[in-house]
Amino acid sequence: MTVTVRFAPSPTGLIHIGNVRSALHNWLFALQHGGRFVLRFDDTDRERSRVEYMEAIERDLRWLGVEPHRIVRQSDRDGIYAAAADRLKAMGRLYPCYETADELERRRKRQLARGLPPIYDRAALSLTDEDRVHLEAEGRHPHWRFRLDGRPVTWIDLVRGEQTVDTASLSDPVLIRADGTWLYTLPSVVDDIDLGITHVIRGEDHVTNTGAQIEIFEALGGPVPTFAHTNLIATTTGEALSKRLGSLSVASLREAGYEPMTVASLAVLIGTSDEIHPWPDLPGLAAHMDLAHVSGSTARFDPHELDVLNARLVHALDYAAVEDRLAALGVNAGAGVDPAVFWEVVRPNLTRVAEAADWWRIVVEGPDRSPAGREAADPAFLAEARRLLPPEPWDETTWAAWTKAVGIATGRKGRELFLPLRLALTGRDHGPELKRLLPLIGWRRTSARLP
Ligand code: GLU
Repeated sequence: MTVTVRFAPSPTGLIHIGNVRSALHNWLFALQHGGRFVLRFDDTDRERSRVEYMEAIERDLRWLGVEPHRIVRQSDRDGIYAAAADRLKAMGRLYPCYETADELERRRKRQLARGLPPIYDRAALSLTDEDRVHLEAEGRHPHWRFRLDGRPVTWIDLVRGEQTVDTASLSDPVLIRADGTWLYTLPSVVDDIDLGITHVIRGEDHVTNTGAQIEIFEALGGPVPTFAHTNLIATTTGEALSKRLGSLSVASLREAGYEPMTVASLAVLIGTSDEIHPWPDLPGLAAHMDLAHVSGSTARFDPHELDVLNARLVHALDYAAVEDRLAALGVNAGAGVDPAVFWEVVRPNLTRVAEAADWWRIVVEGPDRSPAGREAADPAFLAEARRLLPPEPWDETTWAAWTKAVGIATGRKGRELFLPLRLALTGRDHGPELKRLLPLIGWRRTSARLP
C-alpha cells in the first residue's frame, strides 16, 4: 500500500499559516513514508472559487518546498460524484427533501423549545410518490440527504486516539443542494476513494464530519482511510485564523522576507509537545514530526516568533545557500570585498537575509544614516584615530591593535573609545563585530570616514 495523502483547500482566498500546517502535515507524512501527495482543489463553490487563488496556492506550496504528485480540481470531476450519488439513491441512502430553509428553521426552533435536539426529523422519508409529484408541481426542487445509520462510528485517530461520533445525534447531511450543486461532504469521500487516499490529515473542525463521512465511505464500499485530526491555530488573542487575516497569508510572510523553513517549522511545531526549532529543510522537519505529539488544545500563533526563528535560521545559513539571493541584492564581488567573507561577518546580526544589503552598502559606500550621537563625537578624537590607523594588510587583529594605540594616545577606554569609532565607520551604534568588519572596510574607506 502506497501512503497517499491530500491537501484539499477551497480556492476562495490565500492560504495562511493554519492551512500551511495542514499542507505540511500531509507533505511531511508522505515524506516519512515514501508516499504520494495530492493537491485537491475543493472548488465546488463556483461563486467563490477563483483560478487566481489556485495559482497562488500552488505558488505558495512550491515556495515552501511542497511539490504535489498530482493536482485535481473537484469542478472537473462532476461525473464521478453523480455516479456515486446514483448508487446511494439506488440503495435508498440518498433521499430527496423539499423543505425550504425557513421551514427547517421553524422546525428547529420548535424542537429546541421542547428541549429536543435540533436534528432533521426525516419527514421527507415518509413522502409518497404522489406527494413528491405535487411538491415538484409547486416548483420545488429537492435537495438530497444521506440517510445515516444512526450508530456509534469509531476510528483510531492518529492524533486524538480512539474517537466515537454517534451519528444518531446528527442530522442526515445534505449532499446535494436544491440547485444541483455538491456540498463538500460527498465529493470529498468520492475523491478520497478514487484517488486512493490512505490517510486523511486535517483540522479538528472536521471531527464530526468524519463520523458521517465514514458511513458514506462504507456505503460506497470504501476503503475507509486512517484519520488524523490536528488542533487548530488561533491568534494570541484567541481569534480563529481565517482567509481574511491577510497579514498572515503565506504570500505576505514571503514578502516580509521570512525563510520558507521558518514558516514551515513554526506552522508544524506550534501546538505540539516538541520544541520549536527552525529546521533547515523539510526532510529534517519530517524526521522530527510526530502527529501523536500534536496537543489537544488550540495552538496560539505569535508572529514575533517568526522573527526569532528566522534569525536563528539565517545565522546558520552557509554562503552557498544564499549566494544567488545576495547577488540579486547587489552583494557580489567587484567592490573589492569578498561577498563570502562578508556574509560570514554579517550573518550573526541579521534577522532576514535581505538586511545583508544594508550592511553591504555600509561596508562599501559608508554609513547610510546620520547617527544620533555622532555629532557628539569629538572630531579631534576621530582625527587622532585616523593618524593612528595601521598600514595594510589588515586582518582580524587590526582592530585591537588600532584601538589600543588610540586608547593610549587619547586616554579613552570602553564605550567612550569604541562607540565614536563604530558610529564613524558604520553610522550605527551596534552591528557586526568590528574586528571582522574593519578588514572588509579597508584602510582607504576607513580613512575617508574619519575627519
Ligand atoms: N476543503 C476542506 C477544508 O478546507 C477540506 C477538508 C478536508 O481535508 O477534508 O476544510
